Amino acid sequence: MSVIELRNIVKRYGDGFPAINDVSLDIAEGEFVILVGPSGSGKSTLLRMIVGLEDITEGDLRIDSERVNDSAPRERDLAMVFQNYALYPHLTVAENIAFPLILAKGQYSRQEIDERVSRAAKLLELGDHLDRKPANLSGGQRQRVAMGRAIVRDAKAFLFDEPLSNLDAKLRIQMRTEIARMQRNLAVTTVYVTHDQTEAMTLGDKVAVLKKGVLQQYASPQELYDE
Ligand code: ADP
Ligand code: ADP
Repeated sequence: MSVIELRNIVKRYGDGFPAINDVSLDIAEGEFVILVGPSGSGKSTLLRMIVGLEDITEGDLRIDSERVNDSAPRERDLAMVFQNYALYPHLTVAENIAFPLILAKGQYSRQEIDERVSRAAKLLELGDHLDRKPANLSGGQRQRVAMGRAIVRDAKAFLFDEPLSNLDAKLRIQMRTEIARMQRNLAVTTVYVTHDQTEAMTLGDKVAVLKKGVLQQYASPQELYDE
């Protein structure tokens, strides 16, 4: 079943050339999809429309078969992991991970929050670091805290916007491996934006290639390679 369906999606900023031009795409449950293309090709725009940070000019966006073009971001139940992690420096690892649950005022009991945080921390091997502050973590651990914050809420999908582009080459390779491993362990539907072709060809199950707002190809890395 498709978790995310894009049907003839168009985005125009003002009245210029469309930033996204008639893009249709199905993302299946558990699939790891890489969205790749040069700078300015519309990757960020597409991701922001899916998550609800940008209006859709034309077309239909469905999440779990429901049309969500006009739904607020929080109603879409997606988890976005940003480039700079955006951890709160004054909060501990546990408090950072718990943050989305605390924001959803009253929806989760204190006990449920504690249980969810320890489950996420265990999955991400952060159990021994729950009382630390972000400044005392490695880059890789910080990335995992950002992931913990995303998974603590049972989101329908993870969306990554160039999560590794601020890291040095060594850490980037290490994190790439970790993200691929986590995605497989959690089997959660994932859309991952990058302009890095190595990441595109090694990380995911499928690659969507964007150029000037047009979807050029949507296939497995093997299929792209064989062409
Ligand atoms: P990418 O993420 O692939 O670098 P973007 O989605 O950021 O591409 O941009 C796609 C196109 O849309 C570019 O031509 C960019 O200049 C334009 N664009 C992006 N955001 C805005 C905006 N807020 N207002 C006007 N044009 C924008
Ligand atoms: P890019 O660097 O990919 O081109 P943009 O600057 O176009 O990205 O992205 C829009 C901005 O919106 C990002 O800087 C992002 O930090 C910010 N943003 C929007 N919504 C949120 C949110 N819910 N939480 C954190 N940041 C957000």
